[in-house]
Amino acid sequence: MPKTIALLYHEVIDDYSESGFQNKDNLAYMHKTEVFRKHLEIFKNHLNSGNSKVENHLFTFDDGGISNLKSARILEENDWKGIYFITTKRIGTSGFLAENDIRTLHENGHIIGSHSHTHPMIFRSLTYVQMLEEWKVSKGILEEILGEEILHCSVPGGDSDLKTYESAMEAGFKYIFDSEPIVETRKLQNADIFGRFSVKAQTSDQQFLEMLTLKNLASLQRNRKIKAKIKKLIFPIHQYIQNRKNE
Ligand SMILES: [Zn+2]
Repeated sequence: MPKTIALLYHEVIDDYSESGFQNKDNLAYMHKTEVFRKHLEIFKNHLNSGNSKVENHLFTFDDGGISNLKSARILEENDWKGIYFITTKRIGTSGFLAENDIRTLHENGHIIGSHSHTHPMIFRSLTYVQMLEEWKVSKGILEEILGEEILHCSVPGGDSDLKTYESAMEAGFKYIFDSEPIVETRKLQNADIFGRFSVKAQTSDQQFLEMLTLKNLASLQRNRKIKAKIKKLIFPIHQYIQNRKNE
């Protein structure tokens, strides 16, 4: 089974107030255009070095902010494509892509996927039926806009459990992306589950390179586990705070 490094980005924009969900926490996921260009340069050098330990590299973008048009253009300049996961309830609202923007991305060769309909911050706190509804509504809206089947989705907030994956699969998604720093593709019946490496505002060039070379893989996985444990401990309060954020 080929291995994949899927990088997870959100907004690539110079004025953060223009795109995506506007809450303080999201600042950690915003990148200036020059930083993103630098990442692409590091990425290309890494590929050219022939030292990559994985077969596939993907650039993915969550939320569906208007800045997706910007990151897409920068990727195109470098002959690269992205996967854009759209929060469908936000389509056409302030700071988010409109239907035509989504068509433009698609026509330019990028993959469009679902990031749920309403972006519940803790997806796994939903019931199976609620999850299925989130996926189905979102998938239907995107298919209506693009006139073709949507097979990719990413889990909002990144917290997933088995029913998250099973509901996505039942809704008809074949490629499910979460936020676990994992390079192996996980199989769930006829769907593939991909992990992702979240590139944050504080990620230094050196750390970004270590992400690509998998040098910091063990520490990323360790941190993720610790974070999951803390979240579990404070789950009710965590859930309350998170679910209020994007209201
Ligand atoms: Zn999101």
